[in-house]
Amino acid sequence: MGPISYTALVAHHPDSVTPQELQQLVDSSLQRVNRLMSTYIPESDVSRFNASNSTDFIPVDPETAQVVQRAIQISQQTEGAFDITVGPAVNLWKFGPDKESVESLPSEDEVLEVRSLIGFEKLQVRSDPPAIRKSEPKLKIDLSAIAKGYAVDMVAKALDDASCKQYMVEVGGEVFVRGQRAKGGPWQIGVERPDSTQSANRPLLGANREVYRVASISDSALASSGDYRNFFEFKGKRFSHTIDPKTCQPVEHGLATACIIADDCMTADALATAVMVLGPEAGQSVCKAAGVEFLLITRDSDFGTELTEVKSDSFPVSKIESAKKSKSSSAQGIWPTFIAAAVIMGLAILGMAVGSIFANKPVQGSCGGLSSATGEDGDSSCTICSKPTTDCVERAEA
Ligand code: ADP
Ligand code: MG
Repeated sequence: MGPISYTALVAHHPDSVTPQELQQLVDSSLQRVNRLMSTYIPESDVSRFNASNSTDFIPVDPETAQVVQRAIQISQQTEGAFDITVGPAVNLWKFGPDKESVESLPSEDEVLEVRSLIGFEKLQVRSDPPAIRKSEPKLKIDLSAIAKGYAVDMVAKALDDASCKQYMVEVGGEVFVRGQRAKGGPWQIGVERPDSTQSANRPLLGANREVYRVASISDSALASSGDYRNFFEFKGKRFSHTIDPKTCQPVEHGLATACIIADDCMTADALATAVMVLGPEAGQSVCKAAGVEFLLITRDSDFGTELTEVKSDSFPVSKIESAKKSKSSSAQGIWPTFIAAAVIMGLAILGMAVGSIFANKPVQGSCGGLSSATGEDGDSSCTICSKPTTDCVERAEA
């Protein structure tokens, strides 16, 4: 799947397994999925299938067949908005593995040509023995919008098998959480503010990332698709990497983020992409029919900053409390320190006063300091001493 970062955070693990062993389980799960489904590895199931023009069944690993099967189901559920055969259009719009800078947009003829190579109904899968086949010799598959979610599920399964009960797994931004976080309570997963101000033409992950909403979840997956990471600008218009398989063009509506919570991450991942294609209205209907929670964030214009959101009734948004809390707690937290400091200073002043009253002792430092300071005439300026020394008295009388 190319260079994708991941996180596996295990809050507690049984004594029967060490952190090093857990790391190995995580890595081997990810490597297995990558070996089967990457388009960067020539021997992967996906690359072999794409390189072949045969319309016969091509044997694949049972896991690859399972992911392709689920992809086809989601295509049917979303009336083709999600389609893993969309690769030629992704490449035509220069979002493929060999990205290059965009100097012109594809012509209508080019779009029509790739249209004839796309369509999930030209793809068939069987599980016994596991194999996939194409009815169009040039058909290719691209699992970019579902394989990360599947990889998350596979890491989660490995951790479940190792009896881990509290963990969070994230691959390229798609998440699954089990149980509660270490401090207790549901896991808090940030949903990024869709930032339209990032520089165009393949921006790297900008430093100006900001949490927009926080979802509180346990034993669920959360996946997001957005238009703000992988996009280019051409003649003042934004083109993002989600392609509508019907038009073979980047989607046009103002949906900036589709965030989906489902039982498994493969479903959440694929549905997030499908909803990005469908737009807010049709997207909501598909989510309701699929029984998943959704949060959809829409931008007022291509480069606008005004955002509106719509979410399912049970989408578990929690407040972003950390920043506010620390502000108010720091304001509250200053009082004990302030009171303690005032009490100590008060005691010190009282101590000095008691010393002055009962021992009839001048405050030596001040007197010494003032008496050694001289005015313009060279005389001491010490005139306020409560108990002047002989030297002071002599000077004062002179
Ligand atoms: P991200 O990679 O940011 O998580 P997605 O999960 O939405 O985003 O996957 C987007 C990728 O999926 C695109 O870069 C492209 O390779 C592929 N893709 C684009 N449009 C579709 C589509 N309609 N159906 C399936 N895959 C798509
Ligand atoms: Mg996705």
